[in-house]
Amino acid sequence: MDVNDVKTETEPMINIRDLSIRCGCCETYQTLSSYAPGDGYNVYTYECENDTCRPEQTRTLVEVPVVLDLFAQRHPESGCDGGCGTGG
Ligand SMILES: [Zn+2]
Repeated sequence: MDVNDVKTETEPMINIRDLSIRCGCCETYQTLSSYAPGDGYNVYTYECENDTCRPEQTRTLVEVPVVLDLFAQRHPESGCDGGCGTGG
């Protein structure tokens, strides 16, 4: 077994798109509405897209450590502005 050339051991990373964010109020899935790179943490904002909830009251902020944020590393400039809904 030659494990030398195989990838070095890394921590499992977090892909924000693998997460499902549901609203505790209306129980529907929330949609990623914005992304803000932060100091140590990237902040993803999710909002309900329905008429049941007011986004300003039910939005969810998900903070992902930068070093574990696989999605941000794939989209370093975050220029997608939520437009990355297709593909991955
Ligand atoms: Zn809701």
